[in-house]
Amino acid sequence: MENKTRTIKVWEVELLSPPPAVRHCKKCGKKTEFLSSGLFRINAQRKYLDIWLIYKCSNCQTTWNLPIFSRISPKSLDPELLDKFHNNDITLAKQYALDFDLLRRNGAAIGSYDYRVTGDSFFNGPVELHIRSIGSAHLKVSAVLRKKLNLSRKELEEKISDGRIQSKTGQDIMRCRMTDEIVLIVL
Ligand SMILES: [Zn+2]
Repeated sequence: MENKTRTIKVWEVELLSPPPAVRHCKKCGKKTEFLSSGLFRINAQRKYLDIWLIYKCSNCQTTWNLPIFSRISPKSLDPELLDKFHNNDITLAKQYALDFDLLRRNGAAIGSYDYRVTGDSFFNGPVELHIRSIGSAHLKVSAVLRKKLNLSRKELEEKISDGRIQSKTGQDIMRCRMTDEIVLIVL
């Protein structure tokens, strides 16, 4: 039976800074953390553009360029977007630096990063908990829950197996990762 009086709570998950891209640094001779410089590099070759986001090794400052567009016709790009690349738009640079899939596709692993979860974590009675992700952080939902509710892995597993925390859409809470929004039922 649907409980119409269930309280809705909203948490928002936000990365405090873009994650480091972990990759081999030729100069350091080992895997290091590369950090986004927030600057784009644009190369025009004949009729095509290449656009990268510039990363720097946190140890030796060697640069690595994260490909964003390769051999793209400038005509196919929104002029406003192209302007943003030329002006090193902060929001746009952050958006690409938070694109975990883009980083992984280009051979980088995701380093450790800090994030915050805002919203009320004191529940009184059954709650429909909407966890929203700002940006595209692919955090594990279980990590977000443990951080915010201050639970050990074992304590969280117990709450899930007891049915005190359920996914509204039937996802495996211990395994699934954040999307734009995930809805849980907390009893
Ligand atoms: Zn290096």
